Amino acid sequence: MNRREELALSLAEVTERIAKACAAVGRSPEEVDLLAVTKTFPAEDVAILSDLGLADFAENRDQEANRKTAEFAGLRPDAPAKWHMVGSLQRNKAKSVLRWAHRIDTVDSIRLADAIAKAATEPVEVLIQVSVDGDEARGGHPIGDLPRLADHVALSSELLLRGVMTVAPLGMSPQQAFAALYEAVTRLRDDHPDATVISAGMSGDLEDAIAHGSTCVRVGTALLGSRRLASP
Ligand SMILES: *Cc1c(COP(=O)(O)O)cnc(C)c1O
Repeated sequence: MNRREELALSLAEVTERIAKACAAVGRSPEEVDLLAVTKTFPAEDVAILSDLGLADFAENRDQEANRKTAEFAGLRPDAPAKWHMVGSLQRNKAKSVLRWAHRIDTVDSIRLADAIAKAATEPVEVLIQVSVDGDEARGGHPIGDLPRLADHVALSSELLLRGVMTVAPLGMSPQQAFAALYEAVTRLRDDHPDATVISAGMSGDLEDAIAHGSTCVRVGTALLGSRRLASP
């Protein structure tokens, strides 16, 4: 099987998993976006996924993404593509990330939000990364303090608050984590009706996330295979 056939097959499998997970809880698959996490994989793979109909891609390192997004634009100049930053972001990289990222999904502090707002030359979409267990070492803003950060982000004319993102913590079941996130977001929407995105679920737990309201699953391994190399 060549790479194109391989990726077509895995995309069909992932699409089927999403459809089944939606059907199991009476949701429409159209409510769930598939974000292809292409970190460590080459721009050629992104080009194939684009040919197969995907348009949302995610990277977790600024340097790798700057290079890959430029390469992809060279390979498929007319293809629609939106790139998402899903990795932890240092404040001094905000300006650089804004060169390629359509949305920054990992805003987890007031200081980072301010740095992005300062670097932005036009309004930029963001998600707040939430830490459900409060362990900030793994990234994410403590869930109990989500309203305060959301209010702060919403006050900035340079930041467009689109929702939240989480990575299920190690010390609790994914179901528990996704349920807690869903509850917090439902409350948040009273004040921030545009915060409609819930980015939750990866290759291993996307069914649980969809059962708990995820509107965006971030899939790497199940689409592209295992990541043999660390990002450069
Ligand atoms: C790598 C990564 C993913 C994809 O993980 P898989 O288990 O390979 O699907 C999702 N979200 C974030 C934030 C990541 O860094």
